[in-house]
Amino acid sequence: HGEVDFKEDSKFSELLKKGDAVSDFAKSKTIQEQRQYLPIYSVRDELLQVIRENQVVVVVGETGSGKTTQLTQYLHEDGYTVNGIVGCTQPRRVAAVSVANRVSEEMETELGDKVGYAIRFEDEIGPNTIIKYMTDGILLHETRSDGDLEKYRVIVMDEAHERSLNTDVLFGILKRVVAKRRDFKLIVTSATLNSQKFSNFFGSVPVFNIPGRTFPVNILYNRTPCEDYVEAAVKQAITIHITSPPGDILIFMTGQEEIEAACYSLAERMEQLISSTKKVVPKLLILPLYSELPSKLQALIFQKAEAGTRKCIIATNIAETSLTVDGIYYVIDTGYGKMKVYNSRMGMDALQVFPVSRASADQRSGRAGRTGPGTCYRLYTENAYINEMLPSPVPEIQRTNLSYVILLLKSLNVENLLDFDFMDPPPQDNILNSMYRLWVLGALNNVGSLTDLGRKMADFPLDPPLAKMVLMGEQLGCLEEVVTIVSMLSVPSVFFRPKDRAVESDAAREKFFIPESDHLTLYNIYQQWEKHNFKEDWCNVHFLHVKALQKAREVRHQLQKILRKLKIPSSSCWPDSDLVRKAVCSAFFNNAARLKGVGQYVDCRNGIPCHLHPSSALYGMGCTPEYVVYHELLLTNKEYMHCVTCVEPQWLMEAGPMYFSIKESNRSFLEHKKREEKEKTTMEEEMENLRKVQADADKN
Ligand code: ADP
Ligand code: MG
Repeated sequence: HGEVDFKEDSKFSELLKKGDAVSDFAKSKTIQEQRQYLPIYSVRDELLQVIRENQVVVVVGETGSGKTTQLTQYLHEDGYTVNGIVGCTQPRRVAAVSVANRVSEEMETELGDKVGYAIRFEDEIGPNTIIKYMTDGILLHETRSDGDLEKYRVIVMDEAHERSLNTDVLFGILKRVVAKRRDFKLIVTSATLNSQKFSNFFGSVPVFNIPGRTFPVNILYNRTPCEDYVEAAVKQAITIHITSPPGDILIFMTGQEEIEAACYSLAERMEQLISSTKKVVPKLLILPLYSELPSKLQALIFQKAEAGTRKCIIATNIAETSLTVDGIYYVIDTGYGKMKVYNSRMGMDALQVFPVSRASADQRSGRAGRTGPGTCYRLYTENAYINEMLPSPVPEIQRTNLSYVILLLKSLNVENLLDFDFMDPPPQDNILNSMYRLWVLGALNNVGSLTDLGRKMADFPLDPPLAKMVLMGEQLGCLEEVVTIVSMLSVPSVFFRPKDRAVESDAAREKFFIPESDHLTLYNIYQQWEKHNFKEDWCNVHFLHVKALQKAREVRHQLQKILRKLKIPSSSCWPDSDLVRKAVCSAFFNNAARLKGVGQYVDCRNGIPCHLHPSSALYGMGCTPEYVVYHELLLTNKEYMHCVTCVEPQWLMEAGPMYFSIKESNRSFLEHKKREEKEKTTMEEEMENLRKVQADADKN
């Protein structure tokens, strides 16, 4: 277990010397020289020529060829920022921020000056900004107030191969903009050769290939499937570190928890190794990389380790194509990644672990061949690669809840979704399911058109239930409270619970409990923090993540900005908190649960057993009301309701008359289910009729 054979010291010093020879490209070259070294530089003029001659161009190039960082700058240098700005969309928040940072450095300007970024609830954009990196979600939302995207001269849709939900919807919208505005240019970039599809979609537009400069990667498979890939990956990394020549290591895993566990285990192994041997062990710099990681820590992955130190980056699929790290010679691929999928059993989206596709596996191994010939260790069998993996990932639009997108499209006056120009139309079931959910929330009427409430909901960059909660806050006169709660729900957990101080931190959390509601508990925490002048010390003392709270404060500011723009006046009902719980109920009645036994609940809609989480205020205070609503279900060893609030049964009836009535509250869930199905069918019929009417109208 963990045994690795250990090489002579002399060998190590040799290795280290070699390391110096390969390393420090960054130190030896100025930033401008680095730019000129990128593959895209050699085709700069040709590329700009093709862009001048065509309104839409698809650009394909290996990860690291310079698409994301250089294209926008080339466009700027070629004059496209004289009357308008250049926008570049990213499917991932982290990439938008990191790349904007890098480009502002290359252009020698402050971030937020000439180069800026915008991600949900956060932006660094100024009056001088001419190159704007943003998530695809931001651009999608901007089309609401500026349907033709007048302020942009060029949009670069980056990472199109990712096929994120927002990117897919943008395709349809941008196609319309391209047809309408002759002065507008669109560049679609993709890391893979699967680009013909993009070209066809826009009417056979040119595909420009950036010649690659890659080195061969030796691929090694496991002979047998591995049982614990975290363990296996850690072992492999140690083996590489002490037996292989210099070069950094990149490990692909599925998510934050796993990555942190791997970092911890790797560090422990290194310590053991150092203490169990008298010989010199070269340093290993262990760096995690996932989207929730604070950006200061993320920046570390780009920094060159000091001579003689090897870097080992443990990342999610973020490092597949969105972020390029140089100097990687070894890739360890666990073969798994997380994907958001719609879980029809629970009726909601959930991040689930899946085997990656062959296309992703190839992207991953390719990371080892950017600086020189590399090696990729696949912790799965060749048979699994050939016979079990899908050729390419399923586009997000085919597998997730479309509620927000539908709301947005409806508010852009796309009445008939079944006719929208999707590159790969989502399954009709998906559309209907999501429409049903919007109808239940009151955002759509019986014929599937936007209601006044729905129109207002689309103004908020929030999941529809949260948007509804804000608007109910307005109606019920508790907007202040609700906005704070929504902000707290939009950030990672504020509770800090280190393993070795669990008891202490639990006691600290308990002090904030409001017995009947986790939502109110969150509100309470924010209020207390505000009372203590948003102090950092105060957070530390109370085991609260200051970063998460600060983020919540930013989200709150952004939401208030939107409310001011919509001229919605503020209101508060504190200390009476019933109205707040009612607002929560009116948005989350879809997630209602009824008490069944001691501490045990069943979901009102589908009868699935669900439990109060031990961290819940209700659990802690021994409060087990008849009815509760919850924010989401967390699947661990049990189905846990996360963020729970006690509600009155009549609120449920008022909010969701299609689900609840007095008599019905005791009926079996099967009947509920039947009724739900029936309503869905009726709605489906109505939609179908509407479609016929529209089709007839179009004919005439
Ligand atoms: P592509 O989009 O084609 O994958 P990029 O433009 O992202 O390529 O990357 C080009 C180069 O810029 C890579 O060598 C990468 O390492 C470097 N780079 C990108 N972002 C940063 C950053 N934040 N810090 C340092 N180098 C970076
Ligand atoms: Mg890129």
